Amino acid sequence: MKCEKLQTCPFYNDKMDIESGLGKMYKNRYCLGNKEKCARYIVSEELGAKFVPVNLYPNMHEKAEEIIAQNK
Ligand code: SF4
Repeated sequence: MKCEKLQTCPFYNDKMDIESGLGKMYKNRYCLGNKEKCARYIVSEELGAKFVPVNLYPNMHEKAEEIIAQNK
């Protein structure tokens, strides 16, 4: 299912620096496929959007866990 944050998400809207092929792959995998696995989505759901760092990419799961552990 598509992520409901598509319109506002900096990653989906190409505001984050990433090689375009990789970006496309992540968009398909996470944004249009499985948002529940997206590191940005996970942090946002657990803590709120303001806790999502500008440089957190969808595949950074360990970092997401760290942020959640530190802010819970
Ligand atoms: S899946 Fe993640 S990167 Fe994609 S739009 Fe949603 S929050 Fe942003």
